[in-house]
Amino acid sequence: MTIVGLDDTDSRKHGMCTTYVAARVAKRLRREGDAAIARTLLVRLNPAVEYKTRGNAALAIHTDCNPAHAFEISREVLESLAETRDERTNPGVVVADIDPDAGDALPASVAQFSTRAIRDHLSRAAAESLIDNYGYRSWYAGNGRGRIGALAAIGAWRALSDWTYEQISYREPERWGTPREVDHDSVFAAAESGYPGVWDTVDRGENETVCVPHTPGPILHGIRGDDPEAVRCVAAQIDSEPVYSSHLFVTNQGTDVHLRDVAVGADSDSGTTGSGAGTTSATTLQDGRAYRLDARVVSEPETRRGGHVFVDVAPEGVAVGDPDSTASSPSPLSCAAFEPTKRFRDHVRALRPGDHLTVCGELAGGTLKLEKVAIRDLDTTELVTPTCPDCERTMESAGRDQGYRCRDCGTDAPGKERTEIERVLELGWYEVPPCARRHIAKPLVRGGFDGPVHPER
Ligand code: ATP
Repeated sequence: MTIVGLDDTDSRKHGMCTTYVAARVAKRLRREGDAAIARTLLVRLNPAVEYKTRGNAALAIHTDCNPAHAFEISREVLESLAETRDERTNPGVVVADIDPDAGDALPASVAQFSTRAIRDHLSRAAAESLIDNYGYRSWYAGNGRGRIGALAAIGAWRALSDWTYEQISYREPERWGTPREVDHDSVFAAAESGYPGVWDTVDRGENETVCVPHTPGPILHGIRGDDPEAVRCVAAQIDSEPVYSSHLFVTNQGTDVHLRDVAVGADSDSGTTGSGAGTTSATTLQDGRAYRLDARVVSEPETRRGGHVFVDVAPEGVAVGDPDSTASSPSPLSCAAFEPTKRFRDHVRALRPGDHLTVCGELAGGTLKLEKVAIRDLDTTELVTPTCPDCERTMESAGRDQGYRCRDCGTDAPGKERTEIERVLELGWYEVPPCARRHIAKPLVRGGFDGPVHPER
């Protein structure tokens, strides 16, 4: 058995898409290598990586083709399809002579490289050293960066355990770059028929067909879900321009595997191996990584210019961006629900100081870009100026540290009073809507969350 890893073939300017390149490689392996394709993986790597074109996808093909032949074919396809006119496109292919399903045939260090590629930032040298060490075949153009993703795609089958599916339908090449003809109502009807096993097909709140991209590339639509048959069936119900070809991918989309759990008091990073969202070091959060952590709201939410909503939280036992501060003196962490997260901002605006949360998102410029939030406990009281028990008018301050007094009746009160307030939020998980979902973020409808869920669709 052979694993072919591919990455970095597309360009924002000129289009293309590495899923399409992988589908073409798979087709040629079948036709010219007389090979069977066991599966094609679409692996989303760290969404914070600056070199990504869009979704930071890398691809792996599991096949029984002989590795030398698989290498020749994939190299040829990459050479002909990768958009190297764009200097930011640095295609890479890595071919490993490994049976992905044979126990521990995939080395643990390659699996660990995959997990780190999803949660961290890696160097080209780290990829090269593993490729050399295991004697994998590889080819690249440009600066060779594509081999990072290609190797990460190879190790993913051992590194990850939660897999979902995407049925991608491609356009006729002569239509690339022209407006897509996809019947809006048929997409909504198909989405309804497949839900909840098929998710993020549409955004009902925004009336948007999120499965249809707006970029100049070859994809007509991509249908995501938990079951391969279900995604195929939804894709088949969509009325559109002719589908040129289509391919089923096994993916880590919708799994939250990019999130590092922050453990209070932990002082070492144990989150780089294994299949789940492992626990990571707790003392300092770093930009370009995504976290899940418990925190308390410490500011009133604020809507700023552009409609972005910000709120400060105090993560328990975590210092942000200051390696010298200690776990016992945490600094507030700014969290943001940006304008594109639409109705999710209403939930963030409804938070109050004292609410207990679990927040998830990527840290960028010291701000956590919220992807989902769990409300663990709501503060249902507030301090108000007391009212006079006789005339029911609001009392006035009697002077510094002297409590409150009613000027007319002479009644007094020692300080502010705590009253019950009504909260619109409920306990449980809230998420950004499908139109703002990151590929790798897990939709609440998939289940497995530690509390009630309020799924968006
Ligand atoms: P598409 O999926 O549409 O082809 P993309 O958004 O996946 O585009 P790429 O063109 O693949 O973006 O570019 C991402 C580049 O970053 C690749 O060269 C890949 O090897 C590299 N890369 C991915 N993850 C990491 C990481 N964690 N650390 C360092 N480099 C990475």
